[in-house]
Amino acid sequence: MSAFRALPSVDRVLASAAGRDLVQAHGRSAVTAALRQRLARMREAIAGGADAGALVAGLADQLAIDLADAAQTGPRPVLNLTGVVLHTNLGRALLAEPALAAATTAMAQAVALEMDLDSGGRGERDDHLRELICQLTGAEDATVVNNNAAAVLLALNTFGQGREAIVSRGELIEIGGAFRMPDIMARAGTRLVEVGTTNRSHEHDYRQALSPDTGLILKVHTSNYRIEGFTAQVPASVLAGIAAEAGVPLLNDLGSGSLVDLSALGLRREPTVAQAVAEGAGLVTFSGDKLLGGPQAGFIVGRRELIAAINRNPLKRALRLDKIRIAALAATLQLYRDPDTLAGHLPTLRHLSRSRDDIAAQAERLLAPVQALLGDGVRVQACECASQVGSGALPVDTLASAGLRLVAVDDAGGGAPERLAARLRALPVPVLGRIHEGTLILDLRCLDRDDDLLEALAAL
Ligand SMILES: *Cc1c(COP(=O)(O)O)cnc(C)c1O
Repeated sequence: MSAFRALPSVDRVLASAAGRDLVQAHGRSAVTAALRQRLARMREAIAGGADAGALVAGLADQLAIDLADAAQTGPRPVLNLTGVVLHTNLGRALLAEPALAAATTAMAQAVALEMDLDSGGRGERDDHLRELICQLTGAEDATVVNNNAAAVLLALNTFGQGREAIVSRGELIEIGGAFRMPDIMARAGTRLVEVGTTNRSHEHDYRQALSPDTGLILKVHTSNYRIEGFTAQVPASVLAGIAAEAGVPLLNDLGSGSLVDLSALGLRREPTVAQAVAEGAGLVTFSGDKLLGGPQAGFIVGRRELIAAINRNPLKRALRLDKIRIAALAATLQLYRDPDTLAGHLPTLRHLSRSRDDIAAQAERLLAPVQALLGDGVRVQACECASQVGSGALPVDTLASAGLRLVAVDDAGGGAPERLAARLRALPVPVLGRIHEGTLILDLRCLDRDDDLLEALAAL
C-alpha cells in the first residue's frame, strides 16, 4: 500500500536536523526506540485510514513529546491546593530546611551510620535518634523503622506471634490501602481477640478476654473516624494496669502521634506521645511523616526491655531505616527542642497554623491575576473553605481557610468542574484543587508563594 511508503526510515529521521538534536538530548538508543514505536503507531493509524502526509509532517514534534514524556519519570512536583495538608497521595509532610540539608549530606557523603567514632567499633543506627526521642517523649528507649505500619507489624510479631492480642471492636480500623488491623495481625502471626462492641468496650471485657495465651493488649487511636453518641472506650491508663497485672505489654498505636500540644496552634488537643507514654503504655507507635513533619518513618518508643526484644526480632533488619531518612529525622527532631520556633521551621505546622485571614488576603491578591490567566471561560471568585489535616489525623476537625472558586461560565452538558480539574492536572506543574458542591476550589493554605500558582497557570 503506497501510503506506508510515505513513512521515513529510522535512519533518515536520525540523520535529519531534528533527529540529530533529539539524539544530542536523549541519546541514540532512546531516540531509536521511541522512533520505532512511533512509526509502528503511525502504520496502525494509516491502516485505520489516517492521513499519512499529516502524520509524517508532525513526526519530529511528536517524537520530541514522546521523548520528553519518557524522560519524565518519578513523582512530579505539584501544587497541593486540595486543602488536605498531610495528603498521603501527595507525599504527606514537607521537610524543614535543616532536614533537607542533613539528608543531602547523608546522600552525598560517607557517614558514621553504624560506627562509634570514640571507640572505632560498631555502633547502632538507632543511636542517632534514641536520645532525642527519649527526651521528647519521656520514654526509656526507642527504635525507628520504615513506617508506622511496619512499627505496628514488628511490635505485634515480637509479642504476639503464636499468641493472642486483645483489642476493642471499636478500634479494628482500616487506615487506607490494605492496612487493616485484623489483616496486619494475621500477618504478624497474632490471633485477634476482639472485645466489646463497635461503640462500647469496658474494663471487664478486657479482663474476661485475658488467657495464658495473651501476648499483648492493643489500643489503636481511631485516627481516621470517630464514634459519637453512646460510646465507651477504656482509657489507656486503665488498660496499662490490666496489662501490667497480666504481665503483658500494652501497645498504644497513636497513628499521627504529635510530639507537641497542637492546641497552641488552634488545633484540637490530640494525645501527645509523651502523654501516651506517661499513661503507662509499654510501647507507643506513631508515624514520622504525619503531624511530626518529617520523612516517612515509624517510631516505637517505650520500656527498655520491650524495645530490646523488638531489636532482637530478625524482622527489624528487614524494616530498618536508611541513612538518608535517619539524617532527616534527626534534624527534624532537633527542631522540637525549641517548640516556640517550631511552626516557623516545619512546613507542616506552618501550613496547619496559617490563619484564615492570612489565607483570605492571599486569595484577594491572586483573584485578578488568576482570572486573567484563566480567561473568559472561567469565573474566579474568592471564597471561604475548610482545610483538613489529612492522613487520618483529627478526622472530624476542619481548619477555616480561604481560596479561589473556579466556575465554568458554560456548563450546559455538565461535568465542567471535572474537565477544569483535568486541565489543571495536565499542566507542566499540575495544580490540584478539590471539587466541592459542583465547583473547583483551590484552597490556598499550602501555597507558600503566590508566584508558584501564577507561573503554573501561565502554561495554560
Ligand atoms: C496512619 C496510621 C498508621 C499507619 O502509619 P504509616 O506511617 O502510614 O505506615 C497506623 N495506625 C494508625 C492509627 C494510623 O493513623
